[in-house]
Amino acid sequence: MVGLAPPPQAVVVFNAKDVSNWRQRNGQPAVWPVAEGVTTARGGDIMTKETFLDFYLHLEFRVPDMPQATGQAKGNSGVYLAGRYEIQVLDSYGWEVPGMGDCGALYGQFAPLVNACKPAPEWQSYDVIFRAARLDEKGNMQEHARVTVLHNGIVIHNNIELPGPTAGAIDNQEGVAGPLLLQDHGDLVQYRNVWIV
Ligand code: MG
Repeated sequence: MVGLAPPPQAVVVFNAKDVSNWRQRNGQPAVWPVAEGVTTARGGDIMTKETFLDFYLHLEFRVPDMPQATGQAKGNSGVYLAGRYEIQVLDSYGWEVPGMGDCGALYGQFAPLVNACKPAPEWQSYDVIFRAARLDEKGNMQEHARVTVLHNGIVIHNNIELPGPTAGAIDNQEGVAGPLLLQDHGDLVQYRNVWIV
């Protein structure tokens, strides 16, 4: 839910002051601007320097109000779990039956169970419970990654099994700790209150 405070054991990956905990895909320092505790997608994708295997993630986002834009051009960004599995961020408010590219979708794999979007530019939340894939000693897949996602407090994915990374993943190394990655898709999507347990 919006405003959920990090518990004591949380890693506050966005400190509300700067993006010093983040870097670009090429390893260069992240350059997203920060103002009033909010960072805005501008200057390429960013990912946390710290990596995580199994985790609980909370973050808040808001999509800009873009009344002239449609489809994938309307407030596009994305939250890549372990850098490999994108939960889509998009302005999909009002769609009765959201698809695999709409807000809350595991991009290209699973549509959200329901459309839980708020209208732009309201703040929204994702709460995510992620369990990484499990491999045997030879690196063979034993159990796929699993994820549960709440969008604005509403369950939109319930312990689904992810068949593999989504498009744009940093790599295909499932079962290995990875960063949280936030996508810059050219729209001025904003983030705040980002923490991981
Ligand atoms: Mg996206």
